[in-house]
Amino acid sequence: MLDKVVIANRGEIALRILRACHEAGIRTVAVFSEADRDQKHVLLADEAVCIGPAASTDSYLNIPAVISAAEVTDAVAIHPGYGFLSENADFAERVEQSGFVFIGPRPETIRLMGNKITAIETMSKAGIPCVPGSGRLSPDNFPEVARSARAIGYPVLIKAAAGGGGRGMRVVHSEATLKNAVSLTRAEAAAAFGDDAIYMEKFLEHPRHIEVQVLADEKGNAVYLGDRDCSMQRRHQKVMEEAPAPGITEKQRKAIGELCVTACREIGYRGAGTFEFLYEDGEFYFIEMNTRIQVEHPVTEMVTGIDIVREQLRIAAGEKLSIHQRNITHHGHAIECRINAEDPETFMPSPGVIEHYHPPGGPGIRVDTHIYQGYRVPPYYDSMVGKLIAHAENRELALRRMSMALSEIIVEGIKTNIPLHQRLVKDAAFKAGGTDIHYLENKLGLK
Ligand code: ADP
Repeated sequence: MLDKVVIANRGEIALRILRACHEAGIRTVAVFSEADRDQKHVLLADEAVCIGPAASTDSYLNIPAVISAAEVTDAVAIHPGYGFLSENADFAERVEQSGFVFIGPRPETIRLMGNKITAIETMSKAGIPCVPGSGRLSPDNFPEVARSARAIGYPVLIKAAAGGGGRGMRVVHSEATLKNAVSLTRAEAAAAFGDDAIYMEKFLEHPRHIEVQVLADEKGNAVYLGDRDCSMQRRHQKVMEEAPAPGITEKQRKAIGELCVTACREIGYRGAGTFEFLYEDGEFYFIEMNTRIQVEHPVTEMVTGIDIVREQLRIAAGEKLSIHQRNITHHGHAIECRINAEDPETFMPSPGVIEHYHPPGGPGIRVDTHIYQGYRVPPYYDSMVGKLIAHAENRELALRRMSMALSEIIVEGIKTNIPLHQRLVKDAAFKAGGTDIHYLENKLGLK
């Protein structure tokens, strides 16, 4: 196994990685910004190195600082978590060039999948169904852009190849607004992602977001761990996730899972990964691949009993996957609520000191969070402060457990979106299962 791992992240995922490492007998190094000295994982790690000021660009995104922390502590590997440097191919490359193990796919794979145009081309060749689209657009050749849009059929979505975090997308309903939308998206993509490549996709009007979790080792073994439904979104950002996706038959699950596994083998994928699809009228359409651990991985862990972070560590150590497809089974249903430090009505971030904190408990309840009473949520980072996960024999019971947990949990001193989740778990359409990606915004009157 790996001897010592640098956790190049913060918050709940840093703590999650620390726990997986310690359980496997791996020593840990926390790297933290000046604003994060009091993080739970920093206090629990075997060693901790301050890598810079609060601003992420000066700390968590500072590649030389992270690599030198690994050097000074004699670590052997770096786990990037999610966000920050996790999908930065240059970082992965520099980690490997400096003689450390990058806990994730090969840099070439990250680069290929980080560009949505090359990702779609690659997946399409590997037999994965994709959203009808244009490939890279030449924005200066408007007649050709307009021809593509007509061929795909309106409405279309203009997307940035390097886009992420739900940003860099624009819906176009007719040719009258096409030119303007193309130049705006291109300019935004250049400013936000430093890459002005754009492409066009059919805008699906009522899809669900369903994704498939995979694991692959370096010896060519790959498995799928079933699917998750992440359709409950606001501004293309997930709010609640569940596994398995309601209404998907075992036959469909197997068919799409096997396609993903075949694609992993074809591209020589290594590590944990997620194939994201839109699902409409019984068909799956690939939109992108995430080459890292995801926020919502616990729902899959709860229903499969497989520790995905442990598998990431094993794969990085060059070991074989510990599981075979035939042994992967699903038990019951799991739901996750992302707890954000934000106003539940306006969604404005709400940093500050947590004056009271009481976690919920009982059978089937899991709380992944770094917060504790007296902890100050800093204003510099993502507002997610934890995840509440409920697992039970079936979806109805999982929803009831979640509802109880949401009524038990107490977080005071900051505002959180817990009241929003309390409403959602009682929502009739959500309870019925299978709501689409626009449901939440419609319900909130944001559309
Ligand atoms: P990001 O990398 O920013 O997360 P994605 O390509 O994964 O971008 O898309 C994020 C979300 O945007 C999806 O979950 C879905 O809600 C919406 N979306 C993306 N592509 C389409 C499409 N072709 N039609 C309709 N909605 C889409």
